[in-house]
Amino acid sequence: MTCPICAKAIDPKYRPFCSRRCADVDLGRWLTESYAIPVPEADQDAPPGDHEADDPSER
Ligand SMILES: [Zn+2]
Repeated sequence: MTCPICAKAIDPKYRPFCSRRCADVDLGRWLTESYAIPVPEADQDAPPGDHEADDPSER
């Protein structure tokens, strides 16, 4: 099973995501789609599919 955001191995603490960041990304995407409002992602510099999102300091 892999993270639906970045397709990395999931972390049991953040299932079904690999990290809290990806969980936030998914939530933000969900809310964005619900309200159809473009939300600037200044606080989360990891857009879905970003391969540079593997920040060790986030773990
Ligand atoms: Zn992920």
